[in-house]
Amino acid sequence: MVSTIRPFAKPITVARPALPPLEEFRKGLEGIWERAWLTNDGELVQQFRQSLLQFCGAEHASLFTNGTLALQIALQSMGITGDVITTPYTFVATTHALFWNRLRPVFADIESTYYSINPDGIEAAITPWTTAILAVHVYGQPCRLEELQRIARKHGLKLIYDAAHAFGVEVAGTPIGSFGDMSMFSFHATKIFHSIEGGMLTFREAEMERRLDYLKNFGFENETEVVMPGTNAKMNEFQALMGILLLSRMEQMMEKRRNLTLHYRHRLAEVPGICLPAPPAAGVRYNYAYLPIEVEAEAFGMSRDDLYGRLREYNVLARRYFYPIIPDFLCYRHIFRNAELSVARRVASRILVLPLYNDLEIDQIDRICDMLEYLHAHAHSSAGRVAVATTGSETRVPVMA
Ligand SMILES: *Cc1c(COP(=O)(O)O)cnc(C)c1O
Repeated sequence: MVSTIRPFAKPITVARPALPPLEEFRKGLEGIWERAWLTNDGELVQQFRQSLLQFCGAEHASLFTNGTLALQIALQSMGITGDVITTPYTFVATTHALFWNRLRPVFADIESTYYSINPDGIEAAITPWTTAILAVHVYGQPCRLEELQRIARKHGLKLIYDAAHAFGVEVAGTPIGSFGDMSMFSFHATKIFHSIEGGMLTFREAEMERRLDYLKNFGFENETEVVMPGTNAKMNEFQALMGILLLSRMEQMMEKRRNLTLHYRHRLAEVPGICLPAPPAAGVRYNYAYLPIEVEAEAFGMSRDDLYGRLREYNVLARRYFYPIIPDFLCYRHIFRNAELSVARRVASRILVLPLYNDLEIDQIDRICDMLEYLHAHAHSSAGRVAVATTGSETRVPVMA
């Protein structure tokens, strides 16, 4: 156990974008300059799409300028109407995509192991207007795929996955994007794999491809014909260049993150009040996208929010993903809810995502774990000063010299 803690000189952020060697990117830029073709299904976008199809083992894929527009267009392309059953425990864009399609989110609670929508609560949430389920593979851990598929089939609902966290994940050898009617991947810079910004839809129905092409390119059929009111959501050549260069390193990146994750697990296994994420289920090839822990205030000696604040003082910028839950955001508070969402709310009050990125070093993880151990030990030794409430976060732990 260390006796004092030195803060990091520079902030350690929760994520940090992977970057290819600058020389490779520069070379790619030269090609773009020569062709003077920057967007509109350019050579690199086409090449990127082919590589992705191969990497993902998907039958069809369509690329977009970001994941949010990809998801909005997915819902639009499938003609989803009325109510959509979805999770309260996700990034806001999942729900925003519904709202932009004038769909009503109906929230069902999550399960406590992998934090995805709990299929057991879905049937009770179905209304006469329900047409789809929008589930999220939270932190890249697969949803309960078979149960969701069974419910969707039984009630004639479309099943759409927000797979923003799940690029590279496989279940029993099947790529995660092959489940459901459509899956959305985000290639935002903070995700495990990125194209600066970017998004992808994978799907099985061949006819969807043309429809998606229309929707992301103003509905243009040709120079003079517009066949539907599309928007502009095309990926450009610079994004594709970044994506191509990083895709070739994807296996390496996942392996690296796996090792970093194992080191965190090893170091944190014995720290009271720190609950590690459940290991991947049997048959799942996980991508090690995130390292979420749950903080048990009583056992750890301080609340999640206090720990979050203390880590900030040490320049460790852990994040409370996802807190608050979606229906607690001001813009969604008016939405009627019949489910209590008690699991989602409890997880949101305890969750803390620790820094994890490709060039995070073992030494840095050791220092972060030292901090957690130290904070735990000192929280207890100063008993009486530390509030151990499991819910509130009003109390502040004094900064120890
Ligand atoms: C990042 C993210 C999105 C949005 O993707 P962008 O590419 O940033 O638009 C949607 N859903 C989830 C769960 C995400 O984490």
